[in-house]
Amino acid sequence: MNRAVYLDHNASTPVRREAAHAVAEALEIVGNASSVHGYGRNARHRLELARTAVADLVGISAENVVFTSGGTEANNLALRGFGQGRVIVSAGEHSSVLDSLSGVKTVPLLGSGVVDLDALESLLMAGEGPVLVSVMAANNETGVRQPVDKIAELVHAHGGLYHCDAVQAVGKGAFDMMALGVDLLSISAHKIGGPQGVGALVVSSRSEPSALLRGGGQERSRRAGTENLPGIAGFGAAASLARRELDRYGGFAALRDALEARLRAAIPELRIYGAEAPRLPNTSCFGVAGLKAEIQVMALDLAGVAVSAGSACSSGKVRPSHVLTAMGASPVEAACAIRVSFGPGNNEEDVEQLTEAWLDHYRRAVAA
Ligand code: PLP
Repeated sequence: MNRAVYLDHNASTPVRREAAHAVAEALEIVGNASSVHGYGRNARHRLELARTAVADLVGISAENVVFTSGGTEANNLALRGFGQGRVIVSAGEHSSVLDSLSGVKTVPLLGSGVVDLDALESLLMAGEGPVLVSVMAANNETGVRQPVDKIAELVHAHGGLYHCDAVQAVGKGAFDMMALGVDLLSISAHKIGGPQGVGALVVSSRSEPSALLRGGGQERSRRAGTENLPGIAGFGAAASLARRELDRYGGFAALRDALEARLRAAIPELRIYGAEAPRLPNTSCFGVAGLKAEIQVMALDLAGVAVSAGSACSSGKVRPSHVLTAMGASPVEAACAIRVSFGPGNNEEDVEQLTEAWLDHYRRAVAA
């Protein structure tokens, strides 16, 4: 009987006990945070505690945090709320950035997965007027980190604003948005041990996106609608823990490296995407052309190991990954890569089970 091994933490990581307690406690709170009576003030107090915890995690003041329904809404608010002007995004962005606006300009990635800064500079120089640049902090599929501080410097030198989707980076190491020069930042609770369906767009004094949801003064009129107090309370609890345990993810690099070394030793033609670039410590994206990603995912699932294929994060439907094709992979190669993402609770035994199951699948597929 196989043990169940969860290696899909970039898709969603388990809710931390303290966050679950905070959700349960907040469900008992009576009243609407916008009401002026004592019940309302109590709900407001709980909401503002969570706002401070989220703000502290990324080095900014609480009034800059706008709670949303998650990373997807935060990205949409940043881009669609920008108003008139040019928008430039990297080719490796999450679909919630890529699909939120039409007519955006795209900056290519280098083969390493890092954004092409020369191409970004050319695009910045090619136009006039207000410009917003959106480049993520770390990629959800490959884990490749972008040089956030350098991007901020470049964008600011051209008078632009910098939006950074840090959904995968926050909570996996220190992230001080002011020190890095980020103007707008997207975060999601369920990637840091909070509940699903809640996140935040963090704004700065340089950026004030116009609201997408209107019809109420909540969130300083930046996002109308009664706040999801239980979700936000859970987000706040997860953010406080993440801030106290910033190096919690560092140790996963050893598991990731052990996995990659073992697979490479067995199959020299294995392609590991982004291995030459700085990466999140917990993420590995690899494949062999001809071995379809969705079949690998199913074979591993039968062996008790949960991983994901390409950018299947939203629909469960597998298309060749746009991130990998942007890094120069052919469509066939890009349809044959899987993502393994480690998180709290994983250990060497999990690496062992994954490696054996994957090699077994590979050998059967080659023999067939
Ligand atoms: N941005 C990145 C980089 C992501 O990985 C994800 C989800 O996987 C999102 C945005 C969307 O976040 P949410 O699931 O909170 O909508």
